[in-house]
Amino acid sequence: MTLVALGASYPCVMGGPVIRAVDPRIFSLRYFTHCMACSFCKDSCCDHGVDVDLGNVARLKALPAAFKARVGVPESQWFTAGVTEDSEFAGAAHRRTAVVDGACVFRDRAGRGCLIHGWALEQGIDYHSIKPLVSTLFPLTFEQGALVPSDEAADGTLVCSGQGPSLYQGARAELLYYFGPGLLAELDAMADG
Ligand code: SF4
Repeated sequence: MTLVALGASYPCVMGGPVIRAVDPRIFSLRYFTHCMACSFCKDSCCDHGVDVDLGNVARLKALPAAFKARVGVPESQWFTAGVTEDSEFAGAAHRRTAVVDGACVFRDRAGRGCLIHGWALEQGIDYHSIKPLVSTLFPLTFEQGALVPSDEAADGTLVCSGQGPSLYQGARAELLYYFGPGLLAELDAMADG
C-alpha cells in the first residue's frame, strides 16, 4: 500500500481517529454506493459485525426499551466479550458488535439495512450520534492514521465492488461531517488531479 501524506492532521469530531495520510486507491476503487437501493447485496457487508468505541456502546445501551425490543436480542449479548485497546478509537479502546445468526446483531432482519440507522431516522436523531463510525465510513476505513479502502473493497470481495462512484465520492459527505472541510479540500484536490 502506497500512502500519500496530507498537509495537516485531521482529528475526528467523535474523538478519534486522526487522519494524516490517504491511500490513493480510494479515488479509483468503485462500488454501488446507494446501499438502500441495492437489490442484490442482502446487506452482506454487515455479516461480520463492527468495532465500536466505548462511548458509542454506552449511547446504544442508553436507547429506550422500544429500540431494545426491536433488536430482539438481550442487551447483554449485543457485544462480544472483552475490550481491545486501540489508540485510533475515541477513548483509545473498542468493543465489537456480536454476530447473531450470521449477521451483526443490529442488522434489520425484518427489512433492510441497519436497525441503528433506521431508528435514528425514525426518531429524528442524528445517526452519527449512535451508529458506529466504522459502519458509517464503510467501505472506507482508517488504519494507523491513514484513510484506506476496507479489505473487501481493496480485494474486490465486497459484493457491490467495481461499478459506480469511487469510495471517496461515496463517503465524501461523511468525511466532511467527521473530519471537516480542510480534509475535504485536500482530498478533492487529489481526486481532481
Ligand atoms: S452496526 Fe449497523 S451498519 Fe454496522 S455492521 Fe451492524 S448492522 Fe451493519
